[in-house]
Amino acid sequence: MIKCPVCEQFDFESDSNFQTCDVCGWENDGLQYDDHDDADGANWLSVNQARDNYQKYGVIMTDGDKQRKAAFFAARVAPDGSWTETPNPPHAVPKTA
Ligand SMILES: [Zn+2]
Repeated sequence: MIKCPVCEQFDFESDSNFQTCDVCGWENDGLQYDDHDDADGANWLSVNQARDNYQKYGVIMTDGDKQRKAAFFAARVAPDGSWTETPNPPHAVPKTA
């Protein structure tokens, strides 16, 4: 069992099992568990960012974080569901005139 690194009030059954914390909603990503500044994992935020939010607001993602996450995916997922690394794919650029 390992403790949730964000709220420290929940025990995950094993290391890096991608279980979701019942208390704060953190997903148990082993890479993010090992590197508390890693924001590129199962969770949108790093452990340090999520913990900061949790202590201040009682949630790991603020509304602003959720909007940034939604905008990030909206810019990268094409209408057919395919993924592009281009932040602004041609189909997402508003047509002028
Ligand atoms: Zn937690």
